[in-house]
Amino acid sequence: MTAPYIEVAELLLRLKNCVVLTGAGISAESGIPTFRSKGGLWEKYDPTVYASIEVFRKDPSKYWQIRGDFIRDYDSYEPNAAHRALVELENLGIVRQVITQNIDGLHRKAGSRRVVEIHGSLREIICQQCGRTYLAPNIPEGNPPHCACGGVLKPNTVLFGEQLPPEALEVAIRESSTCRVMLVIGTSAVVYPAAHLPVVAKQHGAKIVEINIETAFPDADHVVLEKAGTAMARILEAITSRRTD
Ligand SMILES: [Zn+2]
Repeated sequence: MTAPYIEVAELLLRLKNCVVLTGAGISAESGIPTFRSKGGLWEKYDPTVYASIEVFRKDPSKYWQIRGDFIRDYDSYEPNAAHRALVELENLGIVRQVITQNIDGLHRKAGSRRVVEIHGSLREIICQQCGRTYLAPNIPEGNPPHCACGGVLKPNTVLFGEQLPPEALEVAIRESSTCRVMLVIGTSAVVYPAAHLPVVAKQHGAKIVEINIETAFPDADHVVLEKAGTAMARILEAITSRRTD
């Protein structure tokens, strides 16, 4: 019996043209705290209060208070083997686009060039008045921090009650409808729009590969039940050994 990661490696080598959809599971091995799970941030803080756009407009200090809790050690989080494998697959011309629901910025930090962050990124902080962008951790002090112009700074992430960035969504749907393989990594993708993307890919004839610790997609063509870092390292290894055969 062929191991599932060998089958996936062969599929990727044959079809190439792969789009990747990632969620919290890919960052778990980097130690990124989760929001929704038990012991997660939203058990301690009600997100409808602390991370809603409505509250942010009235009192941005609430958001900045939990941001300190969440990403005090933000820059110490490092990409893991799964993020790095996706960079290699991009360099090999197999992965053409990463679409992520994560706001941790680890795909870019790893070196992926074609990344769409549909929920934004914690790394970028934008002035609500002049639009100047600050990159964490180089953010002015204060709660809330202010721009040099006096404007309030807001993370470039989608808060509760906020629209997803339309350009990012447009790219995500276009890429999903034109790929030949979609790798779905570390996400149960139950939330729109992520839930919609594998459906779009499948409707347009793509093969769906799910890599997760428990399966969530009844329609997946291949399922690798494994941690993202382990699975992606093995798939990459199988690909590189076949290329040099
Ligand atoms: Zn400003």
